Amino acid sequence: MPPVFRFAPSPNGLLHLGHAYSALLNFDRARETGGRLLLRIEDIDATRCRPEFEAAIYEDLAWLGIVWETPVRRQSEHLADYRAALEKLTALGLVYPAFESRAETARLVAAREADRPWPRDPDGAPLYPGDAKSLSADERTRLIASGVPYALRLDMVAACRRVGGLSWSELGVGPDGERGIIAARPESWGDVILARKETPTSYHLSVVVDDALQNVSEVVRGRDLFHATSVHRLLQVLLGLPEPTYRHHALIRDSAGRKLSKSSRSTGLRELRSAGVAPADVRPLVGLG
Ligand code: GLU
Repeated sequence: MPPVFRFAPSPNGLLHLGHAYSALLNFDRARETGGRLLLRIEDIDATRCRPEFEAAIYEDLAWLGIVWETPVRRQSEHLADYRAALEKLTALGLVYPAFESRAETARLVAAREADRPWPRDPDGAPLYPGDAKSLSADERTRLIASGVPYALRLDMVAACRRVGGLSWSELGVGPDGERGIIAARPESWGDVILARKETPTSYHLSVVVDDALQNVSEVVRGRDLFHATSVHRLLQVLLGLPEPTYRHHALIRDSAGRKLSKSSRSTGLRELRSAGVAPADVRPLVGLG
């Protein structure tokens, strides 16, 4: 079977040079290996994703000369697939509802931090302290019936106990120079959110479900997602999904060394195009021959 690659942007802004780099790397890898290139629209966050950004993704990628297979998978159209995966994890007893608001969670963390440092995840956010794990079944039912919002979290300790040691095969380089076989550390993320009251999925859950459903064999994406791979490997094993290889690539930075964001105008593909930059000029701009 030919290898399968995917570029998976979220339509919550316009593409910039960092996206162009990631898309071109995927495109080149697919061409070098006789593989397939898929495009996936990661639009589960209905509050931030907009159809005009999705239209701009197609236009900007086509301008770059990238060719992808159709139909494109749009995550918002496949909620039933994610719900099924969530139900599987729930049936394993690994999911629990947490009812605290962001502010309440911050207060719980602050209270613990009063006497000792509280652990942070690889992105620097404090781990969820797990208070809701000890609610009784009756209390959970009562709170859900009362209509309060909640997040469905993975019981990380129980999940890790179930699967034991995990690793992945890294073809790129991690933020601290990690290469080769990487030991996964999903526990460093704590009880991650898998879904919310209104949305039966999260980034972590939908990305592993889709990579498996689409037979993605090599995940090529930015180094900012290197540590998230630990959670992805855990979910893959819990759900009985195949293991792709990973190639995390460097992030394109602006002239001040900052990571590009969807609002950084000077590096937006639209801005470059209207300033007269040709598609062929983009490759050297991102360090590709
Ligand atoms: N949708 C994610 C993003 O735009 C990428 C997900 C992935 O490549 O795993 O950052």
